[in-house]
Amino acid sequence: MTAKLDFIDLKSQYAALKERIAVRMQAVLDHGQYIMGPEVKELEEQLAAFTGAKHCITVASGTEALLIALMALDLQPGDEVITTAFTFAATAEMIVLRGGVPVFVDIEPDTCNIDARLIEAKITPRTRAIMPVSLYGQCADMEAVNAIAARHGLAVIEDAAQSFGATYQGARSGNLSTFGCTSFFPSKPLGCYGDGGAIFTSDDALAQACREIRVHGQSARYTHTRVGVGGRMDTLQCAVVLAKLERFDWELQRRREIGARYQLLLEGRGIDLLAVRPDRDCVWAQYTVFVDERAKVQAALQAQGIPTAVHYPKPLHRQPAYAAYCCAECCPESERAAQRVMSLPMSADLSEADQLRVVQALLDATQ
Ligand SMILES: *Cc1c(COP(=O)(O)O)cnc(C)c1O
Repeated sequence: MTAKLDFIDLKSQYAALKERIAVRMQAVLDHGQYIMGPEVKELEEQLAAFTGAKHCITVASGTEALLIALMALDLQPGDEVITTAFTFAATAEMIVLRGGVPVFVDIEPDTCNIDARLIEAKITPRTRAIMPVSLYGQCADMEAVNAIAARHGLAVIEDAAQSFGATYQGARSGNLSTFGCTSFFPSKPLGCYGDGGAIFTSDDALAQACREIRVHGQSARYTHTRVGVGGRMDTLQCAVVLAKLERFDWELQRRREIGARYQLLLEGRGIDLLAVRPDRDCVWAQYTVFVDERAKVQAALQAQGIPTAVHYPKPLHRQPAYAAYCCAECCPESERAAQRVMSLPMSADLSEADQLRVVQALLDATQ
């Protein structure tokens, strides 16, 4: 029996960064500013420089980033936000939480990202924003989305929870639209050791609104200019991300290499692969393929000690909480993808030998 692989290998990453993380966390314990300590600003400056966005506002999670961005836009009850049906629930959840209406648009079958050609038909006088998701680590067709938004005076919020580090036409994910929102959930391409997230924008007024909303709407201490939330990211978690940033470029390079090797080894072997468009790259938050008889394939891989996952088994309009926002037939490509997607082990520390084992097991299970 061969060793069981990790789906995401956070242990090897920790082993490589152990000392740097310890030094960074110890510094926080020594100065004791657990909330809004100096590491928060340091991280925001580094992340803004990395993406090229003028402002970075760290927040409690990726979900909170979406919520605060929608609050900064002053979304009103009944306002519509166009988004994809094929994403993690948080995307639509925050729209509904603000009293908004998620309007689901189907995906491109080969990238699983929102099909920009279907957006304009869904715009109504109540539409306020478009929220594309850069799924699996590849940006959606942001140029097309931004052009539609500009024509109709809409804001664009990129849900970049899975795509931090990815590029689109040479620019970084997060810095492609009105807002970019990312997550530092441990398994994301750039993760912390708990919950964390960040909002990016180059609009001064919107950035100020986000900063105030993050701390209960305060424009100065105990001056509550607006209604906000308790949405700060812990100083300790910022310290963890600062340590991880020290080898993040290397990790991105590794993710690209490992993703490219998966694509190369699986190409032409009867398995449908995710398409990566030539004007962007994918950081492979998940390495996802399309297979038929998925449960059978997953069981065969599991028997070889290879874990797999499904992102996501149901499109959002099929989830009880969101079914009312869309008719059952509205997103056929999302339905099909939900039945066929399967993600393989993926992390910067995945060895070539382990990757070859995964590929062989998948080919054995599907040929
Ligand atoms: C992970 C994720 C989120 C939520 O991020 P959290 O930090 O877990 O709150 C939102 N959208 C997408 C697409 C995600 O993958």
